[in-house]
Amino acid sequence: MHSTGESRRADVVVVGAGVIGLSVAWRAARAGMSVVVADPEPARGASWVAAGMLAPVTEVQYGEEALLTLTLAAARRWDAFATELAAAAAPVGYRRTGTLLVAMDEGDRAWTEALYAYERELGLEVQWLTGRHARAMEPALSPGVRCGLWAPGDHQVHNRQLLGSLLAATGSSGVVLLEEAVDAVELAAGAVSGVRLASGDCVRSPAVVLAAGCRSALIGGLPAGALPAVRPVKGQILRLGPRGGVSPGPGPTRSVRAIVEGASVYVVPREDGTVVVGATVEEQGFDTSVTAGAVYELLRDARRALPALSEMALEEAVAGLRPGSPDNGPVVGPSPDVEGLVLATGHYRNGILLAPLTADAVVSAIEGRPQPPELEPFGPGRFTVPARPASFGAQ
Ligand SMILES: Cc1cc2nc3c(=O)[nH]c(=O)nc-3n(C[C@H](O)[C@H](O)[C@H](O)COP(=O)(O)OP(=O)(O)OC[C@H]3O[C@@H](n4cnc5c(N)ncnc54)[C@H](O)[C@@H]3O)c2cc1C
Repeated sequence: MHSTGESRRADVVVVGAGVIGLSVAWRAARAGMSVVVADPEPARGASWVAAGMLAPVTEVQYGEEALLTLTLAAARRWDAFATELAAAAAPVGYRRTGTLLVAMDEGDRAWTEALYAYERELGLEVQWLTGRHARAMEPALSPGVRCGLWAPGDHQVHNRQLLGSLLAATGSSGVVLLEEAVDAVELAAGAVSGVRLASGDCVRSPAVVLAAGCRSALIGGLPAGALPAVRPVKGQILRLGPRGGVSPGPGPTRSVRAIVEGASVYVVPREDGTVVVGATVEEQGFDTSVTAGAVYELLRDARRALPALSEMALEEAVAGLRPGSPDNGPVVGPSPDVEGLVLATGHYRNGILLAPLTADAVVSAIEGRPQPPELEPFGPGRFTVPARPASFGAQ
């Protein structure tokens, strides 16, 4: 890449064009700002790999009630976001089909009972199902299913259609997309003045949004303390499709999560007959190789719950890197250390779900307006990592 010596200007520069960066760029452009987004590989990253579940209830973890409040608030924004994006560009495959969680053995049943009690205590919308009831709702389920939970508000979006739609919507809103890495954020008198790209070119701007997913802590130029503490958390995931266009029989009609001898697997059916089967959660640094063991275990567990999956074609096995933070919560909001820097990262397992809420919060931060109250526990500054030298490569 050669420097043209050019220096563009924009009201805001967004570093990263995953679901977070693109959603921010679209909302900022709609709010009347001139926006530049830089990413050497736009609309890929974890956002391309993901399953697209919008599932606050079935994703809930013990002790993460603040995150639950945030994810529930995020889920409430999805109807409007999907409708507006479809009108601005193209449909995003948002399906309000709910999620079934099923248990396969006695230990899984006990785990599911405890989860049900916890979710009821939290006042979540969830219903207990016997095995028979679960199979009546979803005939593709194995006769071995012991019991289940029905979470009618946990929906899904086709994450790849979503990215395509966001690219189109940003393009038609005047957002400039540069297919280049950002090497460093540039500062003047302690405030953001723009970014330096890998080519050496600069984009001048009073606001920079750091949305580089699991690589957000690798951007140069920022002082100690201003970088977010995010790390890559590997997820391997599969996509299955009808063989030769022939459906193998009744497949699932809604997202199914199965607890199989203590392991968790999910199956997300798309409208086109394909299904997504995921996902591993691994601490492997920046490794994105697909392993035989992961493919085996995902298929083994998924077909215990939904036997007809065995007859489908294996179309894709891929790994992505979730941006994980120390408390599994996102890192969103204005930096307390650098004026003009806004962080939008650390979305871990819920980045697709959290994209609309994050985008609106970031635009509010740029405009100097308050953040949504649900984001209050997830501000930047609650944990940080040491600064990298300005010359540190981002990719
Ligand atoms: C297997 C798997 C399944 C998942 N399932 C779900 C799900 O069902 N529901 C859900 O809500 N979430 C899910 N997630 C999580 C979700 O995918 C992430 O939280 C989300 O995609 C994060 O979006 P992002 O835009 O921050 O990061 P990414 O999508 O990773 O995008 C970051 C972008 O930054 C760019 N970049 C990096 N460095 C630089 C640089 N120096 N300069 C410019 N650009 C840079 C990258 O090229 C990339 O395009 C899943 C993730 C995985 C891996």
